Amino acid sequence: MSYKRIPRLYTPCKLVVEAKVSISKNDTNYLVRVLRLKQYDKVFLFNGLDGEWKAEISSIKQPELICIEKTKEQSITPTTILFFPIIKSKNLRFLIEKATELGVTDLYPTITEFTNIRTLNKNKLLSYMKESSELSERLDLPNLHEVMSLKDIVEKIEKDGNVLLFCDESRDKIPIKVILDKCKSNIFSFLVGPEGGFSDSERKYLQSSKGVQAVQLGKRILRAETAALAVLSLYKLGEY
Ligand code: SAM
Repeated sequence: MSYKRIPRLYTPCKLVVEAKVSISKNDTNYLVRVLRLKQYDKVFLFNGLDGEWKAEISSIKQPELICIEKTKEQSITPTTILFFPIIKSKNLRFLIEKATELGVTDLYPTITEFTNIRTLNKNKLLSYMKESSELSERLDLPNLHEVMSLKDIVEKIEKDGNVLLFCDESRDKIPIKVILDKCKSNIFSFLVGPEGGFSDSERKYLQSSKGVQAVQLGKRILRAETAALAVLSLYKLGEY
């Protein structure tokens, strides 16, 4: 088996030499039935704390992995926060997967005036984050936080002394790239609105709040998930 083909799995277990790591039914199904791995085949494991480990399947009947050696040291993912709208499940899946691949560290579902969907299946989102982290060679998972209102967001930004780039679909705002190029060292948070956009009063409220900067993403109106992908790509793809 070549290095590239060794699958990766997130586990909440502690990873040290010879640690025995039991795996969930879903992961077992993936390794044994989808990938058809056998006893002694290798799997990479990560847990967000102990780096990446090469492990071996000790038995197929009751699958368990045994850690052999550390293959990567844990690195710290730079803080990147996304306040995202609750949108249709297919589009939300896309948004969560791309945000995870691009290295977002904190995801906050957001409810605003024009949010149509107000229920969220957190377990589903966690499973998308796990799968995308495994495939994109992350060493951690993003944190999925509680639902926030605009007021909660503004208070958090003020308290943390952070910068919030609020993606405003109304024209005549500063292009996001200008802001990102100007202040490279700040921790940025990004806010994307729902399919219906932001109301005028929400815009006024955000623009009058400390630490909030309205930005535009070009001439066209993007879907919420495209807007999230665009801001994170601009911000994160410069990192090496
Ligand atoms: N219903 C709104 C309209 O027709 O004007 C469009 C909302 S858009 C589908 C969803 C969200 O994506 C917006 O609230 C905004 O946060 C972001 N967005 C989309 N296009 C944008 C742009 N050109 N500049 C900044 N933000 C944008």
